[in-house]
Amino acid sequence: MSNIKVFKFGGASVNSAQAIRNMASIVKSHLDTPLVVVISAMGKTTNALEQLVPGVLADDVARHAKYEEVKAYHTTIFDELVSTTAVDVSAVADTRDALQRLFADLEKAMTCKPTDYNYDYDQTVSFGELISTTLISGYLNSIGISNLWLDVRQLVRTDDYFREGHVDWLRTGQQVQQHVTQHLSEHPLVITQGFIAGTILPTGAEATTTLGREGSDYSASILSYCLGASEMTIWKDVPGFLNADPKYFDNTIKINKIPYNEAIELAYYGASVIHPKTVKPIQNKGIRLNIKSFVDPSAEGSVVGPFFAIDPLTPLYIFKNNQVLISILPKDFSFIAEDNLQTIFALLARLNVKVNMMQNSALSFSFCIDFNQVLLSSIQEALAGQFRLRYNTGLQLITIRYYNQEIIDRIVGGRNVLLQQRSRTTTQLIVE
Ligand code: ASP
Ligand code: MG
Repeated sequence: MSNIKVFKFGGASVNSAQAIRNMASIVKSHLDTPLVVVISAMGKTTNALEQLVPGVLADDVARHAKYEEVKAYHTTIFDELVSTTAVDVSAVADTRDALQRLFADLEKAMTCKPTDYNYDYDQTVSFGELISTTLISGYLNSIGISNLWLDVRQLVRTDDYFREGHVDWLRTGQQVQQHVTQHLSEHPLVITQGFIAGTILPTGAEATTTLGREGSDYSASILSYCLGASEMTIWKDVPGFLNADPKYFDNTIKINKIPYNEAIELAYYGASVIHPKTVKPIQNKGIRLNIKSFVDPSAEGSVVGPFFAIDPLTPLYIFKNNQVLISILPKDFSFIAEDNLQTIFALLARLNVKVNMMQNSALSFSFCIDFNQVLLSSIQEALAGQFRLRYNTGLQLITIRYYNQEIIDRIVGGRNVLLQQRSRTTTQLIVE
C-alpha cells in the first residue's frame, strides 16, 4: 500500500461558490500526503445535461435555453470564486479559456445528429465533470493550492458499452501507474473527474464512456485500487452512512461501522450513499472507505471495512421513487418460461436497463425499473410483437433490512402494495 489518499466530492459538495471554498479548505488541510481528488459534476448538472443529449428535446430553442442555463450556472460560480483580489490572474484567464472551449465542445456534441442513444449520452453528459474539474482545478491554482488536472478518460479505460462501461482493469492499472503514480511525487495534488472514462472504437477513434449514474464513487474506488491507496474518503452532505435517507426520516441513526459485504448489499438495493460497484475493488485490497460530512469535516463519519456486522445493529430503510412496474404477458398463451425470459433479459441487457426488483408467475413476468421514457418506449417497441405489456408509473420501491412486521406496517401505512418479496434479512415492497 502507498501513502496516497483518494477523496471524492459529489455534486452537492461543489454546487455553489461557497461549497467549493469549503471543499478547497478540506483539501488544503489534507496535503501532508499525496492526494487524488475525484469530483462529480456540480449540483444537478448531470440531470440538465441529460436533456441536451441529441434526440431528447425535439425543440432546438428549448435545448439552447437549457444549455445557456448550464453555462450561466458555472460561469456565475466561477466569477464569484475569483472575484477577490488575492487570485492569480493568469490562472484565472487560462481557466476561462479552457471553460470556453469546453462549452463550445458541449454545444457541438449536443447539436450532433442523434445516433445511438447510449453513445450520444456519454459524449454529451460527460461535459459535467470536465467542466467542474476544470473550474475547480483552475480556482485552486489561482489561490495557491497548486494541483495537476488529469483527464480521467486516459486513466480509466473501459469497453464500448456506453452508459455503463466495463472497466479494463489491466489497461487502467497500467495507465494509472504511468500517469498518476509518477506525477504524485512532483504534484502531490491531482484533480480528476468521476463518472467518465475512455474507450477506443473499432475505428481506432477515442470515445468517452460513463460508468453509470452516480458513478463517481466507483471512479474513486477504481483509482484507489490501482494506486493501492491507504484510504478513500467520500465527502457527503450527511454525517455518514445513515439507516435511512433523512429526506424521508426524522430520526436517522448513523451506522459507524459497516462490513464490506453489507455495504455492497445496501448499495445494490439503492442506498444512495454509495454506488453499488464502489465497494468491491477496495474490499479486494482491504482499503478503508470513510464516509464523512463536508459540512462538519472533523466529525467521525462512518467506515466501511473488515467488520463482522453493522454497528449499531438497527433496521435499515431504502426508498426509490419514480419507479415503473412493467408486466409482460406472452400473446400466444405460452407460459413465462426460460425461452421467454431469455428474450426479455437479452433485451434488458442490450438496453442497459437496471432491474430493481422482479417476479414471475406462470403467465406474466413483472419487473421494476427507474422511470425513463426513452427506455420504456424502446422496451415496449421491442416486445410488442411477442408480448402484451402493461405498466404502472409513479411507484415507490421500499427495501427494509432487519425488518419486522410492525416496521413494515408503519412504513407502508395505508398504501396499496403491488408486489412484495421477503428473505430472512430483507423485504422489498412496491407501493403506490
Ligand atoms: N455526475 C454524475 C451523476 O450525477 C456522477 C456522480 O455524481 O457520481 O450521476
Ligand atoms: Mg452525484
